[in-house]
Amino acid sequence: MVTRRFTVINESFVCEVCLTNVQPLHTGCRNHCPQCLHSVHLDHFPGDRAANCDGIMDPIAIKTHSKKGYMVVHRCRVCGYETVNKLALDDPVQPDSMETVLDIMKNNAWKG
Ligand SMILES: [Zn+2]
Ligand SMILES: [Zn+2]
Repeated sequence: MVTRRFTVINESFVCEVCLTNVQPLHTGCRNHCPQCLHSVHLDHFPGDRAANCDGIMDPIAIKTHSKKGYMVVHRCRVCGYETVNKLALDDPVQPDSMETVLDIMKNNAWKG
């Protein structure tokens, strides 16, 4: 049986890392778990359309952007690919966990 992984389209899915049932975002596409902030390396990242990696992407750092707000840096466990995604801390239904964000900021220094 094939379990449903993170999807490129905006619908609910179950996080493979913490098993949270993730609801779709009202504004834009959610590509990471709001609870543990992990993602999965799929081919929907810009410039990476040939990738078919499916590796779990760890949230390795938090960056702040003057216009976009908080961003999470993801790194693929399998191939090391890194990408930056906007956080949805103010989503009315299922906001990204500020607690997890603070944990990542505490434990990881962004060296990019
Ligand atoms: Zn999760
Ligand atoms: Zn990968």
